[in-house]
Amino acid sequence: MAHRIAIIGYGGMGAWHADELQTMEEPQVAGVWDLKPERLALAAEKRLHVYGGLEDLLRDAGTDLVLVATPNDSHKPLAIRAMQAGKNVICEKPVTLSSGDLNEMIAVSAQTGRLLTVHQNRRWDEDFLTIRKILESGELGAPFRIESRVQGAHGIPGDWRQMPEKGGGMILDWGVHLLDQALLLFPEAKVETVYATVTNITNQKVDDGFSADLGMDNGVHILVEVGTSNFIALPRWVALGADGTAVIEDWQLNGRLVCAHGRDETDVAPVITAAGLTKTMAPRRRDTIATYPLPAVRSDVRDFYRNVTATLDGREERLITLEQVARVMRLMEAVVRSAAVRQVVPFE
Ligand code: NAD
Repeated sequence: MAHRIAIIGYGGMGAWHADELQTMEEPQVAGVWDLKPERLALAAEKRLHVYGGLEDLLRDAGTDLVLVATPNDSHKPLAIRAMQAGKNVICEKPVTLSSGDLNEMIAVSAQTGRLLTVHQNRRWDEDFLTIRKILESGELGAPFRIESRVQGAHGIPGDWRQMPEKGGGMILDWGVHLLDQALLLFPEAKVETVYATVTNITNQKVDDGFSADLGMDNGVHILVEVGTSNFIALPRWVALGADGTAVIEDWQLNGRLVCAHGRDETDVAPVITAAGLTKTMAPRRRDTIATYPLPAVRSDVRDFYRNVTATLDGREERLITLEQVARVMRLMEAVVRSAAVRQVVPFE
């Protein structure tokens, strides 16, 4: 029997899920529920079944999965309620607002024997998969610094994302993706230290951006930055190794690798600047470097759902584990702590 899923919260993301799922054989969308009548009307217009309420949705014996796509503060009660009603749960990110809340959710998953997983869809981002491939190839030599940024110039959307009690702010919104990706670049490494700052440029209630330096025990520093007042966006990724540098400019995968080629440069020609000359900062001579296109990795984000159904059928291991989700939650808490005390905090 095909897996069938009911969607709680038919807002921007709930509608995205419904559209994506309709391109797949399973899980089939059984129906949706939202508190707002206008969202239910839209769902009906799109020929989706509309439940009469949360309890009606949970009573549907024809579903084995529930997707929670509501604002962040309601993930925990809805996910717990759904697991207690016998449903497996896919929760939107961030799974919830704190490690304490997450532990409660994990306990209910264990008690009920229902799957709880999180839509960490940006693991399928092609820019992330490409930078990971570059690092794995060893072409840059020993890596020492990675920079991961997303930067917009619209501030935070003026909805629940601006409310702390709803789980607003950019650490929970984008940080959860970028920190998850960062941890997957060096799966064996521990994060020893975290130093973070937050911004409040467009509002004073929640962070509208942050910067976090993760000091890894393999000697690499990973800088993760999210900004919403950046009228010139810096590259999505920069990776530096002893023998080369990679830049991925954007989600369209513009960028390049520049690597040392052949012998070291000896007779460096100095650069003349307005106020003096420098050999140290002169560009490498062309015959001692090689420039390569990015080894672009393509992906299909629907592999997320395929892995969920294959996990339920016992055919695959789950890709997004609760241990990983819990580690990212603790890391977000360390980012908040470091920014509050303006100090480096130890992590692992
Ligand atoms: P949204 O405001 O567009 O939609 C939320 C919807 O939930 C609204 O229609 C609201 O009426 C409904 N809702 C609120 N409480 C409810 C309840 N108790 N029962 C039923 N419906 C309820 O927000 P959004 O942008 O769709 O975000 C929803 C979730 O998806 C958030 O957790 C967000 O972080 C996540 N999200 C994830 C991604 C991603 O790429 N993974 C992208 C955007 C949003």
